[in-house]
Amino acid sequence: MTYRGRFAPSPTGQLHFGSLVAAVGSWIRARSQNGAWIIRMEDLDPPREVPGAAADILETLAAFGMESDEPVMFQSRREAAYAAAFERLKALDAVFPCWCSRAELEPFGGIHRACVATRDPARAPAWRVRDEVGDFVIRRVEGWYAYQLAVVVDDADQGITEVVRGADLLDSTPRQIHLQRLLGLPTPAYLHLPLALDADGRKLSKQDRAQPVDRTDPLPALRAALRFLGQCVPHANDAAGLLSKSATRFDLAALQTVAKSSACTIDADPE
Ligand code: GLU
Repeated sequence: MTYRGRFAPSPTGQLHFGSLVAAVGSWIRARSQNGAWIIRMEDLDPPREVPGAAADILETLAAFGMESDEPVMFQSRREAAYAAAFERLKALDAVFPCWCSRAELEPFGGIHRACVATRDPARAPAWRVRDEVGDFVIRRVEGWYAYQLAVVVDDADQGITEVVRGADLLDSTPRQIHLQRLLGLPTPAYLHLPLALDADGRKLSKQDRAQPVDRTDPLPALRAALRFLGQCVPHANDAAGLLSKSATRFDLAALQTVAKSSACTIDADPE
């Protein structure tokens, strides 16, 4: 089977060190397996998106030597595929419409199996899938499909064999496997990368305006990302050379050793 990996940024701001780590980790892993690496733009949440961020992220990735092997997939253009999966879940009676507020859900710890609020025909409901770990939303009140459903449909349609992403998404993984089983889709392998935290121990995030990486000088941040992933940093004069050498020496055991020590704190500014 040919390895197919992906990187799936949300266009909510510029690429920062935390997302660079996820990009580099997924890229070198894919290349070490002689596999494909595909970029998917998770532009499914218009209020959180920053105009121009998608193009900016793609340009930054290119400056860092990482380009998608296939046309970039934009989730905003995939409504029909998500709608089909949603209809399948409805037909299986695996989902229910829900008008509950957070306060109404509180006593149930997110697991209520059926809406406890009064049906309000004047308001659109969210749709939740029944799940042991919490009845999570797959279609939002505004009518958008939610991340959990979209990612499962896309990983399957793109034939992704291994998902490499930050450990912040660990608790999404069982939800996604649950959806894959309901929809009869294959489950890829999962590899969760250590998370880059700021000096206060918080995850670097685009919305918090974590310092963007400097695309005019990619080598220092690339070296820092490789070190962060527990990899030896080879000599190279440019980003593409550094990445391809790193891929040939990719050390999964070293990465997993780093991932086990949860207290990986770095400064927001990588160098
Ligand atoms: N869009 C998510 C993020 O930027 C990644 C989702 C995924 O890799 O499944 O954190």
